[in-house]
Amino acid sequence: MKMTSWPKILCGNWKMNLIASEAIELSKGLIPLSEKAKKSMIWVAPTFTSISAVQNVLKDTTIKVGAQNIHWESTGAFTGEISHQMLRELCVEFVIVGHSERRQIFGETNEMISKRLKKALENNFYGILCIGETEIERREGATEDIIESQLESCLYNLDMNEYQSLVIAYEPVWAIGTGNVASLDQIESAHKFIRKKLEKLTKDALPPIIYGGSVTPDNFESIISTPEVHGALVGGASLDIQKFTELSQIIESN
Ligand code: PEP
Repeated sequence: MKMTSWPKILCGNWKMNLIASEAIELSKGLIPLSEKAKKSMIWVAPTFTSISAVQNVLKDTTIKVGAQNIHWESTGAFTGEISHQMLRELCVEFVIVGHSERRQIFGETNEMISKRLKKALENNFYGILCIGETEIERREGATEDIIESQLESCLYNLDMNEYQSLVIAYEPVWAIGTGNVASLDQIESAHKFIRKKLEKLTKDALPPIIYGGSVTPDNFESIISTPEVHGALVGGASLDIQKFTELSQIIESN
């Protein structure tokens, strides 16, 4: 079994929340977490309009600031999109692609997500690829088929070296923002399945596989202690500094 060499990751996805002044306040609360994070990495993805302000607050910390999207073309008539050059200019370090909200609300397909991911990785950003099944797909017993097809269609065009900057977030759609956290068995078996698929694709370094979906301080201890879980992508609880601090303490003490 291949291992990942990455420290554990605690990534906050702030989605379309917080205007810049609010993002600055939240970021100030992250500074002490960064000082205490010895075994884990803290990443945050604010809205585009708050990225610079957040970076300014976090400039002397180890916290990585990322973006919630990237387009696959470099410039052009793509209203509402953002290019790798624009993100580079902002000194963004990572990009989230394939989030279920992008897939479900904005109709993003695996083909689009694959192009976004490729653009991110070939331009030296870390890329978090979100995958996961819907409630119906799980009920129909199609979880592994869905995960497999998402992985195959989003990773087929990556070069071997690009796997070194890849993070996979297993996020069952029915668990995101619902309070219905997946069971430890469900998490472990999905992560194991993903790891086995990744082992066939990567040579040495195995990408970290993190879990997302209604993570809170109340359920995180057992999730992060679950074999195969290498961190968490957190929505709601990342907007609450007390909860995010607790998550950081839990991941550090694990
Ligand atoms: C997410 O947005 O990726 C997420 C997991 O959200 P939440 O933690 O709110 O379920």
